[in-house]
Amino acid sequence: MIKQSRCGCRRAIGVRLTLKIVEAALTRTIKTRPPVKKEQPLIYHQPARETAFDRPRDFLGNRFVYAVISARAGGLSLGVNMNPDQRCNFDCVYCEVDRRTPARETKLVVDAMAQELRRAIIAVQQGQLRTRPWYQSLPEELLKLRHVALSGDGEPTLAANFIEAVQAVVRVRALGGFFKIVLITNGTGLDQPQVLRGLEYLTNSDEIWIKLDGGTQAFIDQVNRSDVPLEKILANILLIGRQRPVIIQSLFPAIQGEEPPFDEIKEYAQRLKELKDAGAQISLVQIYSAARPGVNAGCGHLPLRVLSQIVQTVRQTAGIRAEVF
Ligand code: SF4
Repeated sequence: MIKQSRCGCRRAIGVRLTLKIVEAALTRTIKTRPPVKKEQPLIYHQPARETAFDRPRDFLGNRFVYAVISARAGGLSLGVNMNPDQRCNFDCVYCEVDRRTPARETKLVVDAMAQELRRAIIAVQQGQLRTRPWYQSLPEELLKLRHVALSGDGEPTLAANFIEAVQAVVRVRALGGFFKIVLITNGTGLDQPQVLRGLEYLTNSDEIWIKLDGGTQAFIDQVNRSDVPLEKILANILLIGRQRPVIIQSLFPAIQGEEPPFDEIKEYAQRLKELKDAGAQISLVQIYSAARPGVNAGCGHLPLRVLSQIVQTVRQTAGIRAEVF
C-alpha cells in the first residue's frame, strides 16, 4: 500500500501522486503504447517498456533476498523468496514465474536468508543501492525501504519452514531497526496450524496481503487455475480478517484481449461486501493488472479505464477503500 496510516487519506493521495509523477518521469517507453480507443481491442501483448515499477526483481547477488521497486509497496521492497523451489498450488494465468526452467535453489535456507537480509538492509540504510547502475537515477523517495515481503516464486504459506523463516526475519528486525513485514499470500494456507503459529510473531504494524482475483468459481478457475475452491479462500480471508486488518490484492488481467465481464466484477464486489458484513476488516483493496511480461503470452494489461471501473464498483458495492495500482 502507498501509505499505511488509515487516517492519512490526504497524505496517501499526495504520496501516490508523487509516485505517479516520479513513475511517469522514469518511464522510458521504447515502443510507444497507442492510446486505447473504444473500438480498439484491449492491450494484451505488453509493449517493450521499462519503468521503475515494471522492472524484474534484483537479487543483488543473493540466493533468497531480492530488491524490487513496487507500486503497491510505494517504493523499495526487500523480498524473501520463501519458495525457491517455485512451489505453488495456483497456476495463475498471469504468473511471472517460469516453471519450465529449473529453480535456482531447491529450498529456503533460513540462516543464509537471514544473513542476506541483514546485509541488504545495511546496504539500503547506507545508500549502497545507488552504486548499482540502475538505481542511480531513482529519486530518494523510491529508495526508502517500505517493507520486507515474505513472497517469492510460489505460495509462502506452503514453505516447509514457514515459522522458522518468520522468526528469522523478526530477529533481523530486532537487531537492526524496525521495518514492516508483509506476508503476500494467495490465502489458501492461512488456516494451517503452522501458518497461524507463524503469524503470531507479526505485530499490528505488519500486514497480510491476500489475493482475491474474482467473485465466482468459474472465473477463479480461469484465472488462478487451482484445485482450491473459492469458498476456502473466502473462508480464510474471513478467518484472518476477523483477527486483524487485511489488504486484498486483486489482479485482473486481459485474457486473450478480453476484459473481465462486468457481471463478474459485480460478483467480486459482492464477495467483498459479504466478507465485510461477516466481520472481516479489509483496510484496502489493491486493484491492478498484469504489468511485467508473464509466461503466458495471451495475458496482458487492462486499460486504466477498466481498472477504475472495478475500483468504483468495489467502493459503491462494498463500501471498502479501493485503489488502482
Ligand atoms: S499465486 Fe503467485 S506464485 Fe502462485 S501461480 Fe499465482 S502469481 Fe504465481
